[in-house]
Amino acid sequence: MRPLTEPQIRASFVNCTKGEAKRLHVPRDLADRPWEDLDYLGWSDPQAPTRRYLVTEVDGATYGVVLRINEASVGAARRSMCSLCITVQSGGVSLMVAPRAGKAGQQGNSVGTYICSDLACSLYVRGKLRTGTPGMHETLTVEQRATRLVANLESFVARVRA
Ligand SMILES: [Zn+2]
Repeated sequence: MRPLTEPQIRASFVNCTKGEAKRLHVPRDLADRPWEDLDYLGWSDPQAPTRRYLVTEVDGATYGVVLRINEASVGAARRSMCSLCITVQSGGVSLMVAPRAGKAGQQGNSVGTYICSDLACSLYVRGKLRTGTPGMHETLTVEQRATRLVANLESFVARVRA
């Protein structure tokens, strides 16, 4: 994806208030992120351990999503599969909950999905990071896996924005 600046990231959030988007934690090392290998930028919040953030591009527009880790799912040692990158990990995938955008979110509606806890899906599909968990045997190329990750990201963002 194209490298993003802090103001672009703050302006991209679809499921929190403008005030929250202004205050939330944005990584300081944006310049050092491996943008060319990323389908989305994901990070955690040192001040709020259950918070996660994900920013991606769909059709040239940038969308940021605020997520909360469902704590009951943290530390579970069982094997689970990330629904974005389809990587199987033991204890490295968490149920993440995103409030829906707008009124639906204010009324408490949310979208839950299983995502790699470290939000490094892009690096798993490219083989730049390995899980240590024997996964499914996949015959897809890196390019096909990245395309699938992008498609899953797009449908996730669409569900949050719907
Ligand atoms: Zn993943």
